[in-house]
Amino acid sequence: MKQYPAEPYRIKVVETPNMLNREERFEAIRAAGYNTFLLKSQDCYIDLLTDSGTNAMSDRQWAGMMTGDEAYAGSRNWEHLEAIIKEYFGFQYVVPTHQGRGAENILSKLLIQPGTYVPGNMYFTTTRYHQEANGATFRDIVVDEAHDPEIDLPFKGNIDLDKLQSLVDEAGADKIPYVCLAVTVNLAGGQPVAMANMRAVRALCDKHGLKIFYDATRCIENAYFIKMREEGYADKSVREIVREMFSYADGATMSGKKDGLVNMGGFLAVNDEGLYQRAREMVVVFEGMPSYGGMSGRDMEAFAIGIRESCQFEYIQHRVEQVAYLGDKLIAAGVPVVKPIGGHAVFLDARQFLPHLTQDKLPAQSLAAHLYMESGVRSMERGIVSAGRDKVTGANHSPKLETVRLTIPRRVYTYAHMDIAADAVIKLYENKESIRGLRFVYEPPMLRFFNARFEYYD
Ligand SMILES: *Cc1c(COP(=O)(O)O)cnc(C)c1O
Repeated sequence: MKQYPAEPYRIKVVETPNMLNREERFEAIRAAGYNTFLLKSQDCYIDLLTDSGTNAMSDRQWAGMMTGDEAYAGSRNWEHLEAIIKEYFGFQYVVPTHQGRGAENILSKLLIQPGTYVPGNMYFTTTRYHQEANGATFRDIVVDEAHDPEIDLPFKGNIDLDKLQSLVDEAGADKIPYVCLAVTVNLAGGQPVAMANMRAVRALCDKHGLKIFYDATRCIENAYFIKMREEGYADKSVREIVREMFSYADGATMSGKKDGLVNMGGFLAVNDEGLYQRAREMVVVFEGMPSYGGMSGRDMEAFAIGIRESCQFEYIQHRVEQVAYLGDKLIAAGVPVVKPIGGHAVFLDARQFLPHLTQDKLPAQSLAAHLYMESGVRSMERGIVSAGRDKVTGANHSPKLETVRLTIPRRVYTYAHMDIAADAVIKLYENKESIRGLRFVYEPPMLRFFNARFEYYD
């Protein structure tokens, strides 16, 4: 039997969650319009909505918080964070932002002209929003296999070089402001990108004079997968792998709320001095001074320490293997999930789970609501609702992957919690025929999944 590493931490502070009874949960999800985003955290027993900003900080990070320098300009915590980012990622210039989308906003505004194309290895909600809001069309250039939940490949987040080449042929390199490469690919199931693929993308982009910006949000998880799966990397440290990954990029946006091991924060890093100057000019409008960018001094200190901790092997090994533990349990019980299990979450394949519901009946949304009702476990829809509508035709995007994401916060839950979540899903799977479809009663015009409300078909 596979061995899973024990928690590489001792618990020093605890938080006691509420356990509502079944009736109370039914009332809570009804009041939330059957949207798990609209549930109160207090009403969730095990909260697997997201791994974003839900990290447990270490005693060292909390100690760092006490050294917060909250000066409006020139905070020493910024100097620390800037130095760590340069050292670990190898970029020359860094601009702080309040979270990842703050960096996406600035990068998109600076580089994108209307009528251009931004290719990426599958979309991410906020990333694509900012690209399209600035007039670009997003082009998915991830390998085909990423859209198939059944295909088990080590690096399902890879870019398909032929798709990138076709776009260059079709649109022309001058119509591609940059290539967006996400490590890992969140919506494909947290699937990693191989170092060989990053190298090949760099070579192809150099041939055409294209820039590459990474979405670095889960880069440490990606580095762990490279160490475990890619030839030639077993003996390299996570830190060395991270450094090599980013050597193939012109810059990166990062949400510190994920692999940064903090609750809030982000940055934009670049190598081009001119671009840096313009980003510094813009950050003051949207985020704040270039020495805090929307973060408190204490947050920047915790972020700097978090980046260091996230590269420790024992930490990242446990993090990824704990997620695999939940996934392996579901696979053993025959529950359809996206394979292989990715770095931050287990994705239930709602199409297979609820074959009696067509995609317009929002099967993943309904499954997430039911999981909460039956168990108090909160998850998130990642399917047709999250995908939104085509900006030109107004038709629903209908992604092949119709999933429910069980996202594991870092250093927060134990294997026993994973058992409870797994048992709840397995029980639901045994009673799946009773799950009905949902329809919108309120649909926001953008990023609709956050605030939408639904009702059940009779
Ligand atoms: C969360 C996330 C973002 C956006 O970051 P925020 O900090 O939530 O603004 C961007 N890309 C990916 C892949 C993410 O998961």
